[in-house]
Amino acid sequence: MTSDAIVVGGGVGGLVAARRLAREGFAVTLLERSGALGGQVARQRIGGVDLDAAAESFATRGGAVAAFLAELGLGDDIVTPNPAPAWLHRVDGSAVPLPSTGLLGIPGEPLAADVVNAIGRGAAERAARDADLPALAGTDAASLGELVRLRMGDAVVAGLVAPVVRGVHSVSPDALPVERAHPRLRAEVLAQGSLAGAVRAIRAASPAGSQVAGIRGGMFRLVDALEADCRRLGVRIEVGARVTSVEPDAVVVAGRRRAGLVLRASGSVPDVSRRVTLVTLLVDAPALDSAPRGTGVLVAADAPAVRARALTHLTGKWEWIAAALAGRHAVRLSYDGVPEDAVATAARDAGILLGHPRIEVLDATQHTWDRGAGEPPGDLPSVGETAAGTGLASVIPQAERIARELSQARGIRPVPATGERMEG
Ligand SMILES: Cc1cc2nc3c(=O)[nH]c(=O)nc-3n(C[C@H](O)[C@H](O)[C@H](O)COP(=O)(O)OP(=O)(O)OC[C@H]3O[C@@H](n4cnc5c(N)ncnc54)[C@H](O)[C@@H]3O)c2cc1C
Repeated sequence: MTSDAIVVGGGVGGLVAARRLAREGFAVTLLERSGALGGQVARQRIGGVDLDAAAESFATRGGAVAAFLAELGLGDDIVTPNPAPAWLHRVDGSAVPLPSTGLLGIPGEPLAADVVNAIGRGAAERAARDADLPALAGTDAASLGELVRLRMGDAVVAGLVAPVVRGVHSVSPDALPVERAHPRLRAEVLAQGSLAGAVRAIRAASPAGSQVAGIRGGMFRLVDALEADCRRLGVRIEVGARVTSVEPDAVVVAGRRRAGLVLRASGSVPDVSRRVTLVTLLVDAPALDSAPRGTGVLVAADAPAVRARALTHLTGKWEWIAAALAGRHAVRLSYDGVPEDAVATAARDAGILLGHPRIEVLDATQHTWDRGAGEPPGDLPSVGETAAGTGLASVIPQAERIARELSQARGIRPVPATGERMEG
């Protein structure tokens, strides 16, 4: 028996759900507002090579993404980044390697030499007192900043956690809910009796010790593979189809009502106050061959002279990019908002952050993204980051689960009363 399902939104969440529903026997239509599938997983071309324009990796926790990629035939192309640490650009303009045993900047070994080097002996000793606190201390904290401050002190938050969280999540640690930072962190503090112990336990559970992995050739290959599989399974894909209103059993596109069980996968409500711009530079700079700042640099919030909040040395981080760019280098700088004269600003910042002011820019791209506000999506079944949380390690398993649940409940149609207007 087949049922009709309409998936609204062709990002990874929507594509994963559409594929699963089709595999479960639904006749599926996927509606995507823009001209291309993938949403926040997108490609860009620089120096004749396709690179990721936004998401470039996935968290390895739980192994769900790797298993899913294997199912799509991409398992052999999973790659881990160069294990060299990223660096911290400190408020005084100096740079130090990010401590190697940390999670989101939280040290797993507070008295390790690299932690003392980064924040000083006094601050490291304060952080080590985490081990003497009762397991419960701080575990009711709402934000990551509050949890770390309580257990390890201010200097760890300001000197280590804030630059990392700003670089990864574009927010301050005080605005990042603990569960969004890491879904198991709170439970592991209770289980291990300390925050440092929780960090060590989470790191030990990551495959091969790497917190993230990518796909050789780019994360956007996931979108290509999903699209191909969806088409093979008969999913009807329509791009340029903006849904303006949704009900449980119908959507409106271009003034026309279309019936079917509706699954929302349209991402979060865009929030311009969380706008981020990525500038990618292709550069000729042999001084970068030795990856002088490892995989990249995270910038302390108040560091003068630098406007970027993070720099990724793409050719230092991913071997496949280094091979594809054949001797040239690529660096990617992240900004809050849209910097004026973005490429020139990025080139200047890159020189400072990499310690090599003479960097010749050969090519450049610039993309601005409005991160989601994370508004709850309403009563309709929803997949994607609004419902699951940011990041592919959250989005992919949740979309699989919701689609399976819908399939199990096939025939039992929910009957909520009102329709909803779509944002965007
Ligand atoms: C710069 C950047 C870097 C990132 N880096 C990483 C990373 O390294 N690792 C990681 O795991 N995650 C990363 N993320 C986050 C990750 O990409 C997202 O969490 C994930 O891709 C979200 O997928 P989604 O399907 O929920 O939403 P989206 O990708 O936002 O897809 C939603 C889709 O719905 C469409 N849509 C919206 N409204 C309508 C409508 N009314 N009608 C029809 N279609 C509609 C949109 O056009 C879009 O294509 C990054 C994100 C950004 C912006």
